[in-house]
Amino acid sequence: MGATDGVRWVLADGTVADPGKLWQTSGGRWEQPAPDACPAGHPLGPKKAIVGQQACLAVGGTHLSWTCLECGGTVMWPPATRRCDHTAFDGRAAR
Ligand SMILES: [Zn+2]
Ligand SMILES: [Zn+2]
Repeated sequence: MGATDGVRWVLADGTVADPGKLWQTSGGRWEQPAPDACPAGHPLGPKKAIVGQQACLAVGGTHLSWTCLECGGTVMWPPATRRCDHTAFDGRAAR
């Protein structure tokens, strides 16, 4: 693991926030914090990352993933675990 170490999680307005929960914005929407940089340190943003979803039994739900358009590095929330069964996906993030 470690892909999420050192990642700063931010809301759309730039506020640093705990990725473990949803945050209500001033507009009343619920928002999941997003990483502000990929594992290689490239800044991520609306046009700099592909946001995806990965259904996963190991976490009992869905991973959100942010894939850097610059290098293909992926940050996931919740972080992938060893019990995760989406190896093709993990392979992309591995070095
Ligand atoms: Zn990158
Ligand atoms: Zn998983």
